[in-house]
Formats: sequence, C-alpha cells, structure tokens
Amino acid sequence: MKKDFTPTLLDFGPLQIYLARHFGFCYGVENAIEISFRTIDENPDKRIFLLSEMIHNPQVNEDLRERGIRFLQDTYGKQIISFETLTADDIVIIPAFGTTLETERKLNEIGIRTEKYNTTCPFVEKVWNRSGQIAKKDYTIIIHGKPKHEETRATFSHAASNAPAVIVNDMTEAGNLAKYITGEKPASQFYKDFDGQFSPGFDVQNDLQRVGVVNQTTMLASDTQAIADFLKQTMLNHYALTDINAEDRFADTRDTLCYATYENQAAVSCMLKTNADLSIVVGGYNSSNTSHLVELCEEKLPAYFISSEEKILSAKEILYYNFHNKQELLTANYLSFNEPVKILITSGASCPDALVEAVIKKLISFYPDSIILERMIEQFQSTGL
Ligand code: SF4
Repeated sequence: MKKDFTPTLLDFGPLQIYLARHFGFCYGVENAIEISFRTIDENPDKRIFLLSEMIHNPQVNEDLRERGIRFLQDTYGKQIISFETLTADDIVIIPAFGTTLETERKLNEIGIRTEKYNTTCPFVEKVWNRSGQIAKKDYTIIIHGKPKHEETRATFSHAASNAPAVIVNDMTEAGNLAKYITGEKPASQFYKDFDGQFSPGFDVQNDLQRVGVVNQTTMLASDTQAIADFLKQTMLNHYALTDINAEDRFADTRDTLCYATYENQAAVSCMLKTNADLSIVVGGYNSSNTSHLVELCEEKLPAYFISSEEKILSAKEILYYNFHNKQELLTANYLSFNEPVKILITSGASCPDALVEAVIKKLISFYPDSIILERMIEQFQSTGL
C-alpha cells in the first residue's frame, strides 16, 4: 500500500515504458488462486468444481481447467453443469467475488460444505457486513454495480436478506432513482425502470426514505463517490437537512471501497499525467475493474485493452478490445510516433504479472536498438529499487 503513485519509467532507449505504480493481482485474487490450487493438491481423489470463473482472466481459468477443475456456471450465472449432478462428496469452490445466498443454500442442501472452500474476498465481505449494519438501522441499500455481474448479484442477495435493496448501474440510473425519492416520478413506473434490480416487495413510497450506498468493489471509486454524494444531496434537499443531521436519511458508507481498486485507479490517474503517446491495459475482456482502467486512459490518449501479448500482432498492428461495443478491433500504425515512443502500461486486478512482462518483451522486440530487459533488471537491482 505505497502512497506514492508515480509510475516507474523503464527507459529502453527508443522505447520508454511507464509502468503504473500499482497494477495487477490484488489480495483477493491471489488468495482465491492460492486456495484453489491448494484444494487441487490436497484432494487428488475428489471432483472439484468452481462455481464460476475464479477471476475474470482467461489464462488463470485455463490453468485451473487444465488441472481438472470444472466450472458450474458462466460469468452471467447461466448453468453449465447442473447442480443435480453434484454429490455431497464433491468440492465446490466459491470464487473471490462471492455468491448469492440462494446458490449457497442449494449447494448446502446437496451436502456440499461451501464454507470450507469459500474464497470470497474479505473486502467483498466487508461490503456485505456494512450492508447488514446499515440494514439494522432501517436504511435501504443502494448498490452501485453492474446488475449482471456475479459480485453485484451476490451483494444484492446478501443485502436483500436484511433490507430493501436496489441496484443502480451508473449516474443516469442514480438520477432516475432520485426522482422516486422526491416523488417527481410515479411509484408505479419504478418497477419498469428498475426491472430485475430491486428486492422482492420493494415499496417505493416507504423504502426510499432512508438510504445508504455500497458498491461492487471494482467500480470506479470516483463514480461510486459521485453517486453517493448526489443521492446524499437529494436527501438533504428533499428533507431540508444539513450535513449535521444527514445521517437521519443517508448512511455514511465511505469505508467500503476496496483498497486495491482504489490504488490501481489512483496509480492510473497519476500515470496519465505523463506526456505519453499511447496506453496499453492488460486484462480479461469481461473484467470490470480492467475496463474501468481503460475508461480512465481513453479520456487522455489512445488506449488499447488487450488480453495478452498475442494481441500485439506486429509493430504495425494491434488487436484490441473495445468494451463499449464488445468487439475486438484491429488498428494499424499504433506505434507510429517519433522515438522515443512513450507507452503507459497497467493491468487489471485479475491479470498475472507474467502477462504484463510478456507484453513489454513483445514491444521491446520491435526496437532492435533497445537496452535488453535483463540489463534493465540489473540496473534496477543495483540501484536497490
Ligand atoms: S478487487 Fe478488491 S474486493 Fe475485489 S477481489 Fe480484489 S481485493 Fe477483493
């Protein structure tokens, strides 16, 4: 948890790489991967399943598959292998982003001990605990997250077991929700606008009088903060409150943001102060936290979201993912800048560092006059960095 967010310059001569101060695997992901591989080693005779992808990284999931693990659901919760085929003897690992209470119950009914192989990240559990605390004080829980994301579904399920809950995807939806808080829109319309995003029995008139905001931990921290500030202000205006008595209507939940998400995003914001030519963000295409890093980069300069070095086809062409329209696109002349070419690089919380290294090596290979990577590492070691 270093407080200095200045990127590290890797000066190869004709190529200068600015590496984000914080990037890649977070505690939750490392912990989940470690538990999964340990479970495989300790249980050679058992069938081992993962509830869904361990993390949003194709390479890591492929490694797990090769070691014999099978996936029960896809990332949208669609069943790949029926729960009916499971027995009490099987092991089911719960991924880092957790799961819904309903799924946990179903597995427990089969006799599977979900608590033993549960890799739910403590920072996700922290959000659940905080939701539980504010639920006890009669606040409705507003979850800022992607409605279909596993973590949001899990958080929604835990929150809804304690209190009314509703999911908002972004500021536009928060703005819409505010109109129900103030009564500007008729309650009956709420159920259409937020179809599939509110807890059973949600009562628009009663359940929007006291609220608190928590988030899917990988959302942009600044977006969650903006949504929380906006909804707080809506409450203050509507009920004529001030900051002093704001807690009458709005719960303070600022302490639930995940440190890794915050640090990776803060490191990218700091890295973007560098006057660079382009940026490369490495990570799985369905990774929410990675797409947020891309979002930050593309506000400032060309941003190429790639899943591995294989997407860098040559010094001329790169195949990158446009997460806005969910398409892989080919771009030519992405390196056509005067030397030294300056590239910003970061990676998402579910991306192994080896992939970032492979990307750097591939880029260096296009510049024969570069300092070789090993020399660079020696230099870093000799300066004690
Ligand atoms: S991003 Fe944060 S909450 Fe999510 S797994 Fe990593 S450490 Fe946990």
